[in-house]
Amino acid sequence: MAYKTVNPYTNEVVKTYDFATKEQIEQTLSTTHNLYKKWRKEKISDRATTLHKIADLFRVNKQKLAKIATVDMGKLLRESEGEVELCALIADYFAEHGEELLSSTPIMTRATGAAEIEKQAIGTILAVEPWNFPYYQIMRVFAPNYIVGNPMILKHASNTPGSAAAFEKIVIEAGASKGSVVNLFLNYDQVSEIISDPRVQGIALTGSKRGGQSVAKVAGENLKKSSMELGGSDAFIVLSDADVKQAVDLAWRARLYNAGQVCTSSKRFIVADNLYDEFLKQLKEKFANLKPGDPMNPNTTLAPMNSQRAKNKLQDQVNRAIAAGAKVYYGNQKIDLSGQFFEPTILVDVNKDNPLFYEEMFGPVAQVFKVHSDEEAIELANDSQLGLGGIVFSKDPQHGKKIAQQIETGMVFVNTFLSSLPELPFGGVKGSGYGRELSSLGLMAFVNEKLVVTA
Ligand code: NDP
Repeated sequence: MAYKTVNPYTNEVVKTYDFATKEQIEQTLSTTHNLYKKWRKEKISDRATTLHKIADLFRVNKQKLAKIATVDMGKLLRESEGEVELCALIADYFAEHGEELLSSTPIMTRATGAAEIEKQAIGTILAVEPWNFPYYQIMRVFAPNYIVGNPMILKHASNTPGSAAAFEKIVIEAGASKGSVVNLFLNYDQVSEIISDPRVQGIALTGSKRGGQSVAKVAGENLKKSSMELGGSDAFIVLSDADVKQAVDLAWRARLYNAGQVCTSSKRFIVADNLYDEFLKQLKEKFANLKPGDPMNPNTTLAPMNSQRAKNKLQDQVNRAIAAGAKVYYGNQKIDLSGQFFEPTILVDVNKDNPLFYEEMFGPVAQVFKVHSDEEAIELANDSQLGLGGIVFSKDPQHGKKIAQQIETGMVFVNTFLSSLPELPFGGVKGSGYGRELSSLGLMAFVNEKLVVTA
């Protein structure tokens, strides 16, 4: 697909971009590889200083960056601003803690001599990223790898080229060496060629199952290490002892933040039978309260989806769910605005034989299920091919935690929003992929943990 920014609110084609040339790709591989070799001789602390500068520039340029992201993919301006601030936090976190986390670890051994694990860079990393958080997704890979000493080639989503270029520009402005991050507008064949190049040693992808499968296949064929952050169909479990109002206050945001286009959005609401009717009633009130409009306007509370393609895909999923017996409890009406708006929708009676039961719905559509026991809630939550995150709601945090421990996902939050912070590992199990980003675990994703024994 060609790279272009199409404003999802106005449908205006803002800018189109050409694919990278063969020469550009070769030049990039050569620059990043030479930088990797140069960085091996340099101190981590020098890069940490630059990474703090990058964080500062994200803060200083918050308004400008936020507008670029909102034009690229339509999210509310204040949500774009929050994303820019989070990027600064991530950069500061790895600048502050990277060196210590990468220090050698001694091992007690019966071997002759002193044994230790050194943590070394491995080479150029390719990051393949999605549009839904067009800066944060890049920063999750860039900041740790910059500190480690792995230069990064970026292949961003074809609909957020403006954000990709802006990210690269900030890094250059902060004084990072040429090649620290290089944004290339690549087609899929070019991505495969780069993965196959011996100078590239790791591939990080965030995106769909289909994209992950294709890229992981090429990485596997070339025996390259990869991490895959894929989709989720997260459960939001409301236990029978929960306070419904508190649960709903969290639930509508957990579903509709970023117009529902978050891998860790709560997508399946699993509610105890004694609270089910009241939960639905209150959730509907919240959904009905949203105001669609210009995402740049602070009064707007419902942003358009990122593209016409995404909206059409979601509509098709809802139509298929209804055809297979699901009922619309609220929504699914056309919004009379020219942008890519989808009315927040609540589906009930999505049975196991409904083909949509196992599909991820990447937009403002909630499925609500009634259960009669904690065991049934756990079973339903785990009846998914995906395993990214989840939320459990209970008046008793220990009760909630006991349930959370039985949910097959990479992350679970009890009585709170599933938020991403630099110090918290992010990633999933099952069809949601493998590997972790952020935190000390994310820092080690593309590190050679090398044994050195000195007698
Ligand atoms: P895609 O997989 O379509 O796109 C993600 C990135 O992968 C884009 O840069 C895309 O490029 C690229 N890509 C896709 N297929 C290939 C291929 N065969 N070869 C090379 N590159 C490829 O994902 P979506 O745009 O649909 O993003 C939404 C998905 O991402 C959802 O499933 C969501 O849950 C998941 N996601 C996961 C997150 C996580 O952290 N686990 C976070 C956010 C989203 P192009 O744009 O050019 O097609």
